[in-house]
Amino acid sequence: MRFHVLTLFPEMVLGGLNSSITGRAISRGTISVEAVNIRDYSNDLRHHHVDDYPYGGGAGMVMEAGPVVRCVRDVSSRVAALSGKCPRVIYTTPQGRVFSQKIAEELAKEEDLVFLCGHYEGIDERALEMTVTDSLSIGDYVLTGGEMPAMVMIDCIARLVPGVLNNDVSAEFETFHDSLLEYPQYTRPEVFEGHRVPEVLLSGDHKKVDEWRRDRSIERTLEHRPDLLEHAVLDRREKQYLEQLLREKNAEGHPD
Ligand code: SAM
Repeated sequence: MRFHVLTLFPEMVLGGLNSSITGRAISRGTISVEAVNIRDYSNDLRHHHVDDYPYGGGAGMVMEAGPVVRCVRDVSSRVAALSGKCPRVIYTTPQGRVFSQKIAEELAKEEDLVFLCGHYEGIDERALEMTVTDSLSIGDYVLTGGEMPAMVMIDCIARLVPGVLNNDVSAEFETFHDSLLEYPQYTRPEVFEGHRVPEVLLSGDHKKVDEWRRDRSIERTLEHRPDLLEHAVLDRREKQYLEQLLREKNAEGHPD
C-alpha cells in the first residue's frame, strides 16, 4: 500500500513514520510513504511562500489554493498513471468525520491514499472543493497542523495491511474489532510485587482462556464504553453474562 502525504513539513511525517513497526514495513517494501512538500508548488520561486491573509479579515493565515491544487493534481496524476485509478484525497481537518477502526478497515482496501495536511488557519475552501474526496478528523480538538492526524491514520491503516504486523491475527482480536474493548494482557513474571497473573491463563485450557478473555472484554466495555455494546457480536453464553452484569449493576444502583 502506498501513502502520499502532502505537507509543509515533510521531515515531520517521514521522521515519525520511519521508526518502529511502520518503519520496518517501509524498509521491507510492504508499505511506502512519500512526503511531498506543498512549497515546491509555490509560484514564488524566491521565498516559496504558500499562505496569505484571509479575505474578510480575521486572525492567522490561510494556505493558498494554487500550490495545494497543483500539488494534489501532480501526485494524483502520477498515482493514476501507475495504478489506473484516481486516488482518494483525504483532508485532515477537525471539521471532518471522526476517524475510527471501521473507517481504517475501509481505507486499508485502497492501493494508494493521498493525505492533505493543513496548517495555519487551514486551506482556501476552493482548493478543498476542487480536490478533496474525504474529510477526516482525529477527534474534537484543534491541532496546529494535519501532520500528526495523517500519521495517526496511516499508522492505524498500515497495521491492517497484510505483512505489516508480525502476527496477522493480532489485529483481528483487538479493541474495537468486535465492538468490544480488548481483554487485559499479562506477561512474565507470574508474580509481580505480590500480584499474580490470573490462574486461568496458566491452565493451558484454551477454551477456558477464550471464555475468560471474552468475559473480561464484555466487563471492560460495559464499564468504559457501554455505547459500543449495542453493536457487539455476542453468542448465547456471552449475552447471558452481559445480562447478569447489567442486573448486578442495576441492583447496585437501587439498594433495598
Ligand atoms: N481554523 C480551522 C478550523 O477551525 O476548523 C483549524 C485549523 S488547524 C489550526 C490547522 C490544520 O490542522 C487544519 O487545517 C487540519 O489540517 C489540522 N487539524 C487540526 N486539528 C485536527 C484534527 N482534530 N483532526 C484532523 N486534522 C486537524
